[in-house]
Amino acid sequence: PHRPYIVGNWKMNGTRAMLAEARAIDRAAGRYPDVQVGLAPPFTLVQAIASEAQAIGTGGQDCHPEVKGAHTGDVAAAMLADAGADFVIVGHSERRRDHGEGDALIKAKAEAALASTLGVIVCVGETLDERDAGQAEAVVQAQVAASLPSAALAEEAGMARVAVAYEPVWAIGTGRVAAVDDVITMHRAIRATLIAWSAELGDKVRILYGGSVNADNARDLLAAEGVGGALVGGASLTAESFLAIVAAA
Ligand code: 13P
Repeated sequence: PHRPYIVGNWKMNGTRAMLAEARAIDRAAGRYPDVQVGLAPPFTLVQAIASEAQAIGTGGQDCHPEVKGAHTGDVAAAMLADAGADFVIVGHSERRRDHGEGDALIKAKAEAALASTLGVIVCVGETLDERDAGQAEAVVQAQVAASLPSAALAEEAGMARVAVAYEPVWAIGTGRVAAVDDVITMHRAIRATLIAWSAELGDKVRILYGGSVNADNARDLLAAEGVGGALVGGASLTAESFLAIVAAA
């Protein structure tokens, strides 16, 4: 029903030398009006990319839950918006792992994003141990329920400003993509949780898949029932590989 949403997450990659890639992505994205394209560079490049972007949205990869204050090294959602950002990713598994972030903090960050003008992509996903133990759906459903912004805030902001990204931890950066049937099953489970969260938005919020998405597997993943887009790491680092995914959407 909605335009597929294809988002590049550059993670801790990219200096000004990579602005040429962002420019090429933006220029080409204009040729795919039926696809919504976002790019989340490191904080240091947000302003430069946002100031030139015409066809793509620009995002941060994290924000602090508070508006300002004594939080050395952190960035507020409103600061990202002030730098020209359109959205922010919160709860990525690398932040859950590297910075010990839990669901309650991620929810607060998501709410801070909605309190600013940003859209938010809330990331969830199970580890390999959790999948092997048969816990994948329960773990992810619990993460969704506890990490999403309050339904009232989200309803006020509207469906376009909230997305969920399902990224199985074992598929990130490993080249090991989830099986399409497993993606469909998980997206269905997430959808059920979203509908319990908000009767108004639950059936509309987009659910993206992430984890080793590339030009070869993107078409099958994006055609799968319930998949509203993709969150792309490694393959978003060059315009050529990222645009091949956009073209497949
Ligand atoms: P890869 O596409 O490199 O597996 O990374 C996925 C991801 O974590 C995007 O946020």
